[in-house]
This record gives sequence, structure tokens and C-alpha cells, in this order.
Amino acid sequence: MNDYRELPSPCYLIDESILQRNLAILQSVQHRTGARILLALKGFAMHRVFPLIAETLAGTTASSLNEAKLGREHFRGELHACAPAYSDADIDQLLPLIDHLVFNSISQWHRFRDRVAAFDGPAISVGLRINPEYSEVETSIYDPCCPGSRLGIRADQLPPQLDVDGFHFHTMCEQNADTLERTLDIVERKFADRIDALRWFNFGGGHHISRADYDVDRLCRIIESFRRRHDLQIYLEPGEAIALDAGVLVGSVLDIVAGDPAQVILDLSATAHMPDVLEMPYRPEIRHAGTAGSKPYAYRLGGNTCLAGDRIGDYSFDRPLQIGDRLAFEDMAHYTMVKNTTFNGVRLPAIALRRIEGDIEIVREFGYETYRDRLS
Ligand SMILES: *Cc1c(COP(=O)(O)O)cnc(C)c1O
Repeated sequence: MNDYRELPSPCYLIDESILQRNLAILQSVQHRTGARILLALKGFAMHRVFPLIAETLAGTTASSLNEAKLGREHFRGELHACAPAYSDADIDQLLPLIDHLVFNSISQWHRFRDRVAAFDGPAISVGLRINPEYSEVETSIYDPCCPGSRLGIRADQLPPQLDVDGFHFHTMCEQNADTLERTLDIVERKFADRIDALRWFNFGGGHHISRADYDVDRLCRIIESFRRRHDLQIYLEPGEAIALDAGVLVGSVLDIVAGDPAQVILDLSATAHMPDVLEMPYRPEIRHAGTAGSKPYAYRLGGNTCLAGDRIGDYSFDRPLQIGDRLAFEDMAHYTMVKNTTFNGVRLPAIALRRIEGDIEIVREFGYETYRDRLS
């Protein structure tokens, strides 16, 4: 635990060598299949490491104007936009930045298609997000195919005449290639007469490609056979797979209150710093700690906000915790930094980077000003 003494607290510590390992896996998929892989900025947007990621990936996917600006400013390559809806002002500012634009509804497409076609600049390739009404995501807050979903166009909503370049679906979450295979089966049946007119197909994110048990060979076979049936460009746009296991969130013990189990307050917060812990919900791993009964010293860990449910989980350790001890939560690079809030005025974690050579650079620290300036 003393490894982290030198860092500010709390602090993300992102590991370039793990990013590199993940990127090598993604590169092999691009190489073997001709698919292009984009970084979904909504999951991981630490632009300090974009030059490293841009060596491998074909570009980025933005879900808002702000993300598109970031992608244009800090990443080279393709820039796709995909959002539930765009405003008039968004579209005017997006068009000079992007090369692919995905609409989530027929009404958005109809509203903006002439403006996109008339854009006085490099041509923009337009696509539609479809909803195949099939997913294997069990948590409904993460399921774009849940009944009444607002995400994507169902087959029965498509007009007979479609003049778009691409289709896009995003229906997966932390899943393996078998889920993609079953999903594509349904997509090809439901949208059979539409696919051959397209120039590209984006299979979205949720592909856990860099996970140890992910079946990369199967993914490659699926993409290759899809391309044999339909001659078009395939895109994947994972967020999580790029930054999987690429960083820890380090925090400190502020207080320990005896009890059963003993309660520990950290300078971290589930709701402000790792909201998926509450939304999924799940129990994040801590380096060198175990589940509640597996080691001699047990604690219930919680955050430093007023929220009664700001509870991180139950853990046990080989030795008693002490005030000031540093704890490292695993796999905290993705969907954390991009979601942080300053609820209760809690500190935003600093951002540090362990370079490939091993040295640690403190990239950014946040103070009172960041909190104040977002409030008026
Ligand atoms: C969230 C999202 C992604 C990235 O998903 P991951 O689970 O991080 O791979 C890609 N595309 C769209 C449209 C998304 O909403």
C-alpha cells in the first residue's frame, strides 16, 4: 500500500503499458479483419494519452459537441458523431469537425439531412442508429433494447426509401464475441433488405475485446464472414476495451469507527467518483484486499458525502487499516474520470500517469476553482 504514498489523494493512476497492451489486441483485430476501431470518448477521454491511442486506432466517436471538439483537437483520424439528438446549433458546429454523423431517429435525419448535404466542406457520411430489439444486457439502465427504449430506430419504423451510407447499433455491454454473433444474426434477419445498400456498418461498443477470456478469433471470424456476405466497411467503437484495467483510483482512509463490520470513511465517493458502483451496481476490487470473510480484518468502506448509500462495499485485509492508509481501487480508468462530480464539494481526484519507462507524472490536480467555476 505504500506504493502510492507519493501521489496526491485521491488520484487516478493510469498505466501506459496496460493501454499499450490493450491497443495491441485491438490492432490485431484491425489488421486481421480490416475493421476500423474508434475510441468512444464518453468512456475514456484522458487526452494526455491520446497520442499513444491514436498510433493504433482509426479515430474517435463523440456523443456530443464537446466530445467532438476534443476528438478534433487532440486525436487524428476519423471523427464520428452519435447522439440521441442534436440541436440546430450543435449541427452547425459539428459539421466542420466530423466526417460521419449518426442519427438516432428518422425525424432527426429528416430535419438535418439537407443541411448536411449542403454543407460547404468535406463530404459527411450519414448513418442511422438502429434498434434490433435484441440485447443480452441484464441491467435495464444499461439496456438500449429495453421495452420503450428511446435509443435507435426499429425495423418497423424505417421508411421504404433510405438514402444513407451506414447503419449503427450499440446494444452490448462488457460482452464477448458470442453475444455479437447472436446479435448480428437478428440484425441481418430484421434488416435484411437494407444492408446491401450501405457502405459501412458500425457495431457500436460493449465489446470487451481486451479482457483475458475474450474470444478474439471468434470476433475476427464474425467480422470476416459478415464482410463476405455484405461488402462494406465495419467499425467498432469500444470505450471500455481501450482502458480496461489501465488504471487504479487511489484514496486514503480518513476515519475508522469500530463496529461489526467496522466502518471506514475514505476521501473517495462512490456517487461522485465511481457512480457505476451504485448504478450497476457492483463491488470494485481493491488491490491486496479480499471479500468480507476472506482475510482477518474486515471493514465496510464508504464515501465522504452526505448520501447514506455512498457505500463502496465490504472488504477484508491482512492487517488492520490505519488512518492515512492508501487503498487502490482496480480498473478505474474508464467511466470514472468522465463521470466525476463535485457533489458535496468533494475533491476531484488528481490524474497521474505511469509512463512506459516506469516513471510517474502527475498530469493534473484539481482545486477549489474547478468546483467554484462550475456553479456560477
Ligand atoms: C457507450 C457507447 C459506446 C462505448 O461502449 P463501451 O461499453 O465503453 O465499449 C459506443 N457507442 C455508443 C453509441 C455508446 O453509447
